[in-house]
Amino acid sequence: MFTSNEEYTPFPSKLWLSSPTMHGPELACMQQAYESNWMSTIGKNINEIERLICERVGCRHGIALSSGTAALHMSVKLAGERLFGKPWPGHGALEGRKVFCSDLTFAATVNPVVYEGGVPVFIDTERDTWNMDPLALEQAFALYPETRLVVLAHLYGVPGKIDEIKEVCESHGAVLIEDAAESLGASYKGRQTGTFGDYSCISFNGNKIITGSSGGMLLTEDGEGAEKVRRWSTQARENAPWYQHEEVGYNYRMSNVIAGVVRGQFPYLEEHISRKKEIYERYKEGLKRLPIEMNPYDEKNSEPNFWLSCLMVKEEGLSRQERGAREAWYERERGKSCPTEILEALDSINAEGRPIWKPLHLQPMYRMHPFITRYGRGRAVANACQAEGTEETDSRLRDKGADIFERGLCLPSDIKMTKEQQEKVIEVVRACFE
Ligand SMILES: *Cc1c(COP(=O)(O)O)cnc(C)c1O
Repeated sequence: MFTSNEEYTPFPSKLWLSSPTMHGPELACMQQAYESNWMSTIGKNINEIERLICERVGCRHGIALSSGTAALHMSVKLAGERLFGKPWPGHGALEGRKVFCSDLTFAATVNPVVYEGGVPVFIDTERDTWNMDPLALEQAFALYPETRLVVLAHLYGVPGKIDEIKEVCESHGAVLIEDAAESLGASYKGRQTGTFGDYSCISFNGNKIITGSSGGMLLTEDGEGAEKVRRWSTQARENAPWYQHEEVGYNYRMSNVIAGVVRGQFPYLEEHISRKKEIYERYKEGLKRLPIEMNPYDEKNSEPNFWLSCLMVKEEGLSRQERGAREAWYERERGKSCPTEILEALDSINAEGRPIWKPLHLQPMYRMHPFITRYGRGRAVANACQAEGTEETDSRLRDKGADIFERGLCLPSDIKMTKEQQEKVIEVVRACFE
């Protein structure tokens, strides 16, 4: 019998990147599920969060699933069947098909493409929002005109160049999947992220803007697709007195207990966003005299949810840093610093920072996949530069995702962080540049 809470000692002294922030109603909603015995994948909490999220985001159908990754998997499968028809049993819906994917993002954005046999082609990043570069996407369609599917993520809660991306997709008849896992509540030209894709996904993972401890949701206007996902995610049972199956099924439905946590969190979404924004603004002000810039966004057209505050060291302020496959080294230089040094300094005060997502085209498992920049094949350019022995000082030739990875990092962005704690973080970052 569980009697002591010693295994669950909280970490009052640790400053997290982004940890769950509970308010009370979560427990009440979970308890309701418990007391009414709706402890499975059916119940009021599930129905309620589907309704609330659809209403908040402005979409017709929302299907609560066990994770954002599951929602992406179901999206990819829907898109694959819509474009190429039903696969043979044992084959993926995208078998051998190229899919244009964001490159500077979490691996969960693209792994589901591989689950369905697709081949991710990585599209380089632009500097204005750190998201997929529409010019690189156009270039990719020129190189692989048969491609019909695009997976776009909004990094760290900042909407990408949605109009431009959608225009490129439409002109090539491509289906768009929007990975809004990090950007729930963010908007672009007054419209919420999660409504721009043919299929869109959000996540309630423990570190996201609101959480269910885990969970995710698929959002779409496509009623027939929504029905398919409801069926697939509950083992694809047909309407019959016995277990009748016509398709492969999955156990991807959200639990009503998890949905209770999400339901209890939901009213706090706006509060979380405004706290995250304050944190971002305070970093921006506190670090403004340093050779750094904050993760940028389109101030005219978009309102991020400011999920994570990030900084990028300007070229003139960057000290020497080398990264191997698993380790990093740097040299201490007066007046300069680098992400490795700053992350070490944060760690020394028990604050959690994190490198920027390592671009997927640089991941060992995706090293053979095409990587496309606005100038053409990105790997070919890098090779050509090396072959000629030229230094890649011309920023046009640089792989922008690799550059942001090299110079950027995520700062502690937990909404329970006090003003004093954040001032300490700012002081420690400043000291790195002395
Ligand atoms: C968190 C995240 C996911 C996956 O969501 P889970 O709920 O953890 O499966 C997918 N894409 C991005 C960009 C994410 O940050």
